[in-house]
Amino acid sequence: MKNKKIIIIGAGITGLVTAYELLKQGHKVVIIEKEADVGGLARSFKYDDMIFDIGPHRFFSDQTTINSYIKNILNCDFFKISRLSAVFFEGKYYKWPISFLSIFKMSFKNIMSIIFDLLFLKMKHANNYKEYVENKYGKTLYKIFFKGYTEKFFDIDAKQIHQMWAQESINRVLIVKKTNNILGLIKYFLKSNFSREKKFIYPKTGGIQVFSQNLKEKITALGGEFELNADIQEVQITNNSAVAVKTKKNVYESDIVVWTAPLTALCKIMNIATELKYRNLIIFNYIIKKIDKKYAVNNYQWCYFGDRNITLNRTSKPMLFSKNNINHKYDSVCVEVSCSQNDSFWDTPEILKTKITSELLQLNVISSETDVVNIFAEKIENVYPVYTLNFENDLNIVKNKIANINNLYLAGRSGLFWYNNMDDSIENGLDISKKINETT
Ligand SMILES: Cc1cc2nc3c(=O)[nH]c(=O)nc-3n(C[C@H](O)[C@H](O)[C@H](O)COP(=O)(O)OP(=O)(O)OC[C@H]3O[C@@H](n4cnc5c(N)ncnc54)[C@H](O)[C@@H]3O)c2cc1C
Repeated sequence: MKNKKIIIIGAGITGLVTAYELLKQGHKVVIIEKEADVGGLARSFKYDDMIFDIGPHRFFSDQTTINSYIKNILNCDFFKISRLSAVFFEGKYYKWPISFLSIFKMSFKNIMSIIFDLLFLKMKHANNYKEYVENKYGKTLYKIFFKGYTEKFFDIDAKQIHQMWAQESINRVLIVKKTNNILGLIKYFLKSNFSREKKFIYPKTGGIQVFSQNLKEKITALGGEFELNADIQEVQITNNSAVAVKTKKNVYESDIVVWTAPLTALCKIMNIATELKYRNLIIFNYIIKKIDKKYAVNNYQWCYFGDRNITLNRTSKPMLFSKNNINHKYDSVCVEVSCSQNDSFWDTPEILKTKITSELLQLNVISSETDVVNIFAEKIENVYPVYTLNFENDLNIVKNKIANINNLYLAGRSGLFWYNNMDDSIENGLDISKKINETT
């Protein structure tokens, strides 16, 4: 039976896709969102006509149905762009994912050491991130590439990070799946040099958030409601059912609740103790004078910095996604710094501005401090689920505690404590709405 009252928590991509699909089936939908606008992690900041996403965001999927869905929501108003990203280590920029030829830019010692490792790769059981990466790509590549970046990113020893982080983060960008031997790696390297990577999709105007804004319009046109800037006080449970969601301003009766906000927020509301935690992100959005293209870094859409002496994790150039992200006068750079709530600079990110500006100077992203026109610091909470060694167990404890609530669905990156991409969130939204339809 349709016409159910469905409350969706979170207006990120998962929440919006789920809402839209359920409305099309004739259900009543209310979306409750903490922020002032939709889009979640895939939203954009606008300062006059300069647009910044939360770090580099591109639509990429191998599935025709998902690609068609994206194109349809974007009203066919998008660019198809070839990827050009880099990693910086030992003072040089390397194309990322690393190509066969770029290995020869490394020192002779490193080249020999990598080849030696690859010749003797063995399938072994891995207990953590470090062991997984060493087994798969060798000790040298682990040491020079992965260790520094990952430990800086999480601020914990790589031995304390679950191997699933490597499976989900490295494998999808770096290497074809079957590469536990030298042949697989050679195949990958040759492929990466001689085959053309599929292009990614990016909105022509308005930044990545256009996808969510278009969905919001479609949802509103179908009668869906939003409470933005919402503060959820309670999910009211009666006889193992979530019968209402209370915000500071309203009470919404519910037949079904879909929770896409961080799982830890649900735990807090329901008084469930948990060790699960997310890593936060501060983005420093730099508006800069137009800079000479001769600096290599400015030709990459994004670039990773693993060196622990460098505070920033990654830079990205909004204009290399769409030239409409900048105006005729200025250029821009988005700088990411991962952090936790306890870091001193989380409360006052401004204190990092001078340091980051001098790093950008040192890395040739800018040519002089006077190139900087303005810097906007934006704090983003609950960005990366921290896959500690024990996280699966911690996650199961939470899931078991809410398993008896028969009409509460967890979904999306934050709701499922899942390091995912936008295409995964779209697919998840489609799956959840299908499941709800089949059971109502
Ligand atoms: C730096 C960065 C770069 C990325 N690059 C890419 C890329 O290139 N390609 C790609 O496909 N993906 C990329 N991603 C991942 C992509 O952003 C996510 O997969 C996607 O946006 C997740 O959408 P979601 O709706 O599942 O989750 P979220 O976006 O986390 O949505 C959850 C929503 O819940 C809201 N919320 C939080 N707390 C509450 C509360 N208490 N009450 C109500 N609402 C609440 C949040 O504000 C948010 O709107 C990137 C992510 C980051 C951080």
